[in-house]
Amino acid sequence: MQFQKEDFESVVCDFCGADDYTKRYEKRGFWMVQCNKCGLVYTNPRLKQEKIAALYDADYFQGHGFDRSIDYVKDVKDHTKGTDGYTLEDWDCDTILSLLPQERRTNARLLEIGCGTGVFLDKARKHGFECQGLELSEYAANFVRQMGIPVETKSIEDANYPPESFDAIVMREVIEHLPHPLDSLKTIHSWLRPGGVLFMATGNYDCPERKLRGSDWFYFMPEGHLNIFSNSTMRKYLQKVGFRKVDVTNQGDKLMDMLKDWKILTPNVSKPRNIFKRSVFIMMRSINHFISSGMRIYAVK
Ligand SMILES: [Zn+2]
Repeated sequence: MQFQKEDFESVVCDFCGADDYTKRYEKRGFWMVQCNKCGLVYTNPRLKQEKIAALYDADYFQGHGFDRSIDYVKDVKDHTKGTDGYTLEDWDCDTILSLLPQERRTNARLLEIGCGTGVFLDKARKHGFECQGLELSEYAANFVRQMGIPVETKSIEDANYPPESFDAIVMREVIEHLPHPLDSLKTIHSWLRPGGVLFMATGNYDCPERKLRGSDWFYFMPEGHLNIFSNSTMRKYLQKVGFRKVDVTNQGDKLMDMLKDWKILTPNVSKPRNIFKRSVFIMMRSINHFISSGMRIYAVK
């Protein structure tokens, strides 16, 4: 895709407001820079919002856009055929449930922001959550509606849920796309009930793959990935916004998928109870912490 000079805007650091950075990596004519004050990594200059919005069309959701790794339409097909079994999404649901107060684990209200075609929401519904979605793409939202799950096609800024509407809010591979993550996280925090859980998954800037591959790290997609977090910058964000308990773990999808395939992870538990399985689980998570490219983040209000 070709862009013109007027398609770009220069931005300051979202977290601390500084305009003081070091250029780190160049990719497809974009620069990923790192704030000298707080360490946040962000794309600068970046595409203007209206340009970015145009990237999330039907092609994007079928893996023909700037992110070739996604194919939500195929995910929906696998999911509706019922061939996907106990997936990582199921495990994520079990983990969220384990963090909620006991009395709120049934019919807990869950919002997924950037729910795409709704596979996670349908899984969450099977775990007893009362689900709804927020999704910018009308194309993707239609898949969710067909599952009978309510979804609004709005941005976080335009959605006006009353304060303390939800027990759980989920953002999988979304926060890196948000133009103003600090403002969005403040809003999301206000939507959660006290004791509610925010679960996020995103890339980890400090992972070995970035250090080895530099700008070829797959997570650098500067057209749409506007901010890239590390354990420490993510923690700073969540603490600033007011979450009282923050757990940032480096658990990407690959190793967790293996644990699931080896039946170490089983339905309805977030941590294996069997001592042998639990030891394997803890060991694998420790290894994963040093090799994974992704983070799974749990924050409790
Ligand atoms: Zn900064």
